Amino acid sequence: MIIVLMGAPGSGKGTVSSFLSNKHNFIHISTGDLIRNEIKNGGDFARKINEITLEGKLVPDEIINEILKKNILERIKENKNIVLDGYPRNAEQAKFLESIANVDYVININVDLDIITKRIVGRRTCSKCNKIYNIYFNKPKNDNICDNDGTILSQRVDDNEETIKNRISVYKKNAIDLEKYYKEKGIFYEIDGNCGSEQVENKIEDTLNIK
Ligand code: ADP
Ligand code: AMP
Repeated sequence: MIIVLMGAPGSGKGTVSSFLSNKHNFIHISTGDLIRNEIKNGGDFARKINEITLEGKLVPDEIINEILKKNILERIKENKNIVLDGYPRNAEQAKFLESIANVDYVININVDLDIITKRIVGRRTCSKCNKIYNIYFNKPKNDNICDNDGTILSQRVDDNEETIKNRISVYKKNAIDLEKYYKEKGIFYEIDGNCGSEQVENKIEDTLNIK
């Protein structure tokens, strides 16, 4: 089964993906994580995409499509359940995805704007295992320390108020076409994500019928 999680930045896609990966053995593919890994590698290409992410813009389709393809094809061959987080971001990417994979479900996580901003500002992540925390909503057991491996948590450089505004407006601009694309395919589902992580995860299990 391949599922696509849609939703504004901060709506909880990464959190739900970790849950699906830990509890239901899904392979989690986050294009945001893949981009951040590319940036860590350094060099001219990394500098260019780092600038794009800091402006809150989308990395060009040709680049992100190739990165996605490189990371998904082997998993599809192995017949794994896959959750895509942050891809596709526009109808062009959705068409590309369709040329290499069959998507079963697209779930849009709806969260109000004021909540999203607080979630993004409060987000902290572990640079070692990528676990996602929140200083207001999903705190680690010990302040600023990863529960899994004791790493000091960090804040994403693009999680600042200025970049957030751009990321949200880029999301809104593209989401309409993307929703339309998947509604026409009859695989589009929506859940209300204005509630705690556990409730959201329950709704996802209900939608996918995997309880
Ligand atoms: P996305 O991947 O959509 O950008 P994340 O999964 O990284 O979103 O979540 C953004 C922030 O909100 C994180 O700090 C996460 O801990 C927190 N969060 C995620 N889901 C919920 C929820 N249902 N309730 C409260 N906080 C949440
Ligand atoms: P995310 O972790 O999903 O919030 O993504 C962080 C940043 O990576 C985005 O703001 C984009 O610059 C880039 N990115 C991630 N996924 C995509 C995608 N599917 N298309 C274009 N850019 C992407």
